[in-house]
This record gives sequence, C-alpha cells and structure tokens, in this order.
Amino acid sequence: MRILKMQSKFLEAFLETMNKFGTLYGPTHKNGVLSYDQLESISDLVVTDEHPMIPIKKLFHPMRFTMMHFNEKGFTPDYSMIEKRVVLGVHPCEIHGLLILDDIFMRDPVDPYYAELRQNTAIVGFSCLPTENSFCQSTDTDIVEEGFDLFFVNLGEYYLVWVGTSLGHDMIYEREDFFDEDVTYDDIQKYVKWRYNRNNMFKKGFEFDSMPDIMELSYESEIWDKFAEICLSCGQCSMVCPTCNCYNVTDVFDITNETTGRRDRFWDSCMFVDYSLVAGGHNFRSSRADRLRLWYGHKLKTFGKNYGRPGCVGCGRCVETCPVEINVLTVSDALITREVPKK
Ligand code: SF4
Ligand code: SF4
Repeated sequence: MRILKMQSKFLEAFLETMNKFGTLYGPTHKNGVLSYDQLESISDLVVTDEHPMIPIKKLFHPMRFTMMHFNEKGFTPDYSMIEKRVVLGVHPCEIHGLLILDDIFMRDPVDPYYAELRQNTAIVGFSCLPTENSFCQSTDTDIVEEGFDLFFVNLGEYYLVWVGTSLGHDMIYEREDFFDEDVTYDDIQKYVKWRYNRNNMFKKGFEFDSMPDIMELSYESEIWDKFAEICLSCGQCSMVCPTCNCYNVTDVFDITNETTGRRDRFWDSCMFVDYSLVAGGHNFRSSRADRLRLWYGHKLKTFGKNYGRPGCVGCGRCVETCPVEINVLTVSDALITREVPKK
C-alpha cells in the first residue's frame, strides 16, 4: 500500500477537490446534532473524535427507502437514490462496520441496493482518538488496512496518508503537489509513538477473545433473565449499532388503485417483540431474555464464527444509548461475574 505525507495546512484545499468524485457527505451538524449527511461545503465537515450517534450504515442501508414500484403487470426496482458519493471523515470502527455489512449484504445472494450504494461511494477515512466510551482496541478495530480509498492519520503538523485503491490514487492526482513521497524513518517513529500514546488513552475495554467461549457456556445463564427484567425492548441498541442490519418490508398501495403501489424497506430490530412473530401467532422469541441472548450472541460469538471477525466494532454507542445500561461492557462483565448492575 502506498503511504504519502501531506502538510495539515493543505487538508481543506485537498478535500475541496473531492467533489469531482461525487456528492460530498460526512459528519456535520444538522439541527444541532452530529450526523452523517450531505455537505453543502467543506466548511460543514466536522472533524472530531466524536462519532454521530446514528452510524454510517444509514448511507448504505438507509433507515427507510422505496425498493420498487408495482402494478398488475409486474414491478420496477427503484434505484433513484444511487449517486456518486464521497464520504469524508470516516473513523476506523465505522470502516470495520462497513466491512461487516459487506460480508452480510454483498455475499450471494447480493443485496442490489446495498451493493449499488457501496460501489458508488468512495471512503476517505480519518484517524481519531478514543472517546469516553469507545473500546475499539478490545475488538481490534482501532486500525484499518482495507475498506477505504484514502485514509488520513493526523500527526499534528502533517498527515500520513494511506492510499487504498486506484480511485484513491486518482484522488491524489488532483493535487499531487500537496503530497510528499518521502516518508522518513522519523515519520515512522512519530507514527509508532502516536499509536502508543493513543493505545494508552482508552478508558474502557474488555477481554473480547474469551467471549465466544463464555457465550457458549452461558446459554442457560440466569443473567439473561436478570437483564430482561430491566430491558425496555426499545430497540435503540440496534438502531445505533453499526453492524445491526435487520430490516422489514411493507407494501404500500395507492389510495385510488388496489393493484398499484410501492414496496418500502425499513430498519427493524430483533429486540422488538414482534420481530420473530410468524403466521399463526407463533413467536420464536417472545421473551426479552431470548431476544437479549440472540443480540449478544451475534455480537460476541456467532458473527466471528461465521465471518471471521467480531460483530462488535467497539464504537461504544450502545454504552451511550441504552437507558438501562445494558451494553457490550455490562453484558460481558455479567457473563463472567454473574452480577447484573442494578438500575
Ligand atoms: S438493551 Fe437497552 S437499548 Fe436495547 S432494547 Fe433493551 S433497553 Fe433498549
Ligand atoms: S455492540 Fe455496541 S459497541 Fe459494539 S458495535 Fe454495536 S453499538 Fe458499537
């Protein structure tokens, strides 16, 4: 992989050129809330260690969209949301989250909507420092080696810039004069020191490697019932998790015509009581304990077994969001101690 150097003073001017490659998106303040949205100008980009509460998945697996229009003769897929895009300021855990979604949506049978959105979007990543609740070091998702076109590591006066794809090379050619090929021994030492310092800044973490086995041994554990007593089944944990990907579809008929309409797709959560409700009134997971065990089984065990990487990227959003403090940290702790924090 090619690594270059760019003085920090050139960042804004370089990012300005990115609109040649598509509509610009990135973390920005919308109604006072940090969120991934379209940028009217580069000055709208918010470069911060904080992350938007709704992760980048919303740009690839939208909260709600129309999949197709139908009538008595058949259907027409709706790809009107597809456009060339460049997402700026994407942190490593978000890129890992996308790689996980790729494993789910891009394997046979491919989800054409996700695939189109992904293939038409460039990713320009930025390094970040740990926040109050992030623990991506524990899930090995604090560093990225793939899944981006360019990745900028902020070393103060300058950035080290990883070029990940041929599109990334094309982006660099826009302002080749900003970049320096000469990455010296001192630069590498500075980068190593940056990583060392950052590793020591994490305030939270857990022993992820032992979790698949502990989950396996805890299927019948009483902690699921204890957490179920306080869980509200609100589904917030699923909405904010970069790797949660469940959805539902519904047909919406035109008011004036019973044979024409559209099919919409929207986020769903296995934490909702009706998620596993099937015809005949049977519900495979009617109890909150079963739903919690499923959710944490995916994050801590099953995904790694099926896809070779953890289902949690350590972003800490569930820590910030759950109103009753059920999250990866409290659950993994309770799996070991058998103690559920009182709420
Ligand atoms: S674990 Fe927390 S965020 Fe998730 S459904 Fe239960 S109460 Fe809501
Ligand atoms: S389980 Fe929690 S910490 Fe892990 S990726 Fe999901 S929201 Fe982030």
